[in-house]
Amino acid sequence: MARPNEIKWDVVVIGAGAAGLLAAARCAELGCRTLLLEKNRKPGVKILMSGGTRCNLTHNTDAAGIMQAFGRKGRFLRTALQMLGPQDVVELFRQEGVTTKVEETGKIFPESDRALDVQQALLARLRRSEAVLRLDTSVTGIEKSELGFVIRTTDSVIHADNLIVSTGGASYPGCGTTGDGYAWLRTLGHKIVHPRPSLVPLTTREPWVAELSGVTLPDVMVRVMPRNFWPTDHDPPTRLAALRKKSIDERRGSVLFTHFGLSGPSILDVSRSVTAQSDMTSVDIALDLLPDRSFDELDEWWRKVCTEHGSRSIARMLGELVPQRLAEALLKLEHLPPDLRGAELTKPARRSLICRLKALCVPVSGTRGFAKAEVTAGGVSLDEVDPRTMQSKIVPGLYVIGEILDLDGWIGGFNFQSAFSTAWLAAESIHASRSSE
Ligand SMILES: Cc1cc2nc3c(=O)[nH]c(=O)nc-3n(C[C@H](O)[C@H](O)[C@H](O)COP(=O)(O)OP(=O)(O)OC[C@H]3O[C@@H](n4cnc5c(N)ncnc54)[C@H](O)[C@@H]3O)c2cc1C
Repeated sequence: MARPNEIKWDVVVIGAGAAGLLAAARCAELGCRTLLLEKNRKPGVKILMSGGTRCNLTHNTDAAGIMQAFGRKGRFLRTALQMLGPQDVVELFRQEGVTTKVEETGKIFPESDRALDVQQALLARLRRSEAVLRLDTSVTGIEKSELGFVIRTTDSVIHADNLIVSTGGASYPGCGTTGDGYAWLRTLGHKIVHPRPSLVPLTTREPWVAELSGVTLPDVMVRVMPRNFWPTDHDPPTRLAALRKKSIDERRGSVLFTHFGLSGPSILDVSRSVTAQSDMTSVDIALDLLPDRSFDELDEWWRKVCTEHGSRSIARMLGELVPQRLAEALLKLEHLPPDLRGAELTKPARRSLICRLKALCVPVSGTRGFAKAEVTAGGVSLDEVDPRTMQSKIVPGLYVIGEILDLDGWIGGFNFQSAFSTAWLAAESIHASRSSE
């Protein structure tokens, strides 16, 4: 039978990830008797594996730059970022002895390149705060009574005045994030926007993509397009203009071909727009392999090279623009023999090939799912959480923070920033509401 817990806590925090660790530490620092519950034997498991075990803890930008990474919903983070912006996060870790460095991409990592240092810094702050951390404790349900919250774990019943839910999303379920919080909050009356994978590699059934496995392109414009978007009856430049107009989402950056499909930062960043479709097979990915060069510039370049070096094979010419393996795949898709001489390339064939370079189409068959998604899109509807406090608009005393919210950002440290900022704001809000009682 479940043991009742005699203490009534000022605050119970469920989930010791990035958000929960900081929220619990801050609540305790502000004088609240705080209990942090975690189902794993170790806190901050995702921190340890993040950024390839280097932990990209935030991004070198301002509040507006962080909000932009979350799309339309980013505005929800305004107050949270005013309370704790990216530079505040850098300073917070510096105070714990973790100095950071900014990489070329704007990503911020600990100088040591050790995610462990980030986790240890949060734990050190938590210990100093005197919040109580209970590991290996899985919460099975929560209820609201007139006297506060009743939190049930596998072996105890805990009471609290305020409750912070920071159980994360549903991605990488092996880390403990099995989406438990969604069901509890739904029972308490919250709307849950259907959770779906985000920052996830995309799959395709095209065999030529698998054959390119291992090819990396550092600078590609990736566009999510409605399936069969090509207006076939137009000339290539008109078709490319239509492409830009009909794009559902786009992001520029590196792309990696894999045995299952496409990966790399820009693919992961647009994946949320793919999983947002009711039928993922209704979209194509169009890759602009040479985003800095217009169709006309490339046409001019080809004409010149073909005139000056007419005896050169087109495979060799194309190899000057893209990696050789990709060049050969493109020629196959265009039904052009690789040993065709430049002088033999007809104008329509040249223009069609350039069009392929500017919009290499990969039909999507799906994603690698929650098992390989770095974050979860969807979650607790933002309409029902007050962005000025992180308090539920439905259940007073309930606070919702971190990835369980219907917020997901680009790759680059944005998701940890959101977790830290919402955590800080919730703790400050609880303190403010207790002080005004
Ligand atoms: C492989 C990988 C790499 C990543 N790299 C980065 C990166 O470099 N930079 C970045 O910004 N983001 C990164 N992310 C995303 C980032 O890890 C998350 O957005 C962030 O951890 C969310 O923090 P959170 O505290 O909301 O949730 P989480 O960190 O997921 O923590 C939730 C916690 O709640 C616990 N929990 C769940 N259910 C229960 C229950 N019933 N009872 C008790 N406890 C429970 C879980 O065990 C977990 O410890 C990465 C994610 C993955 C999977």
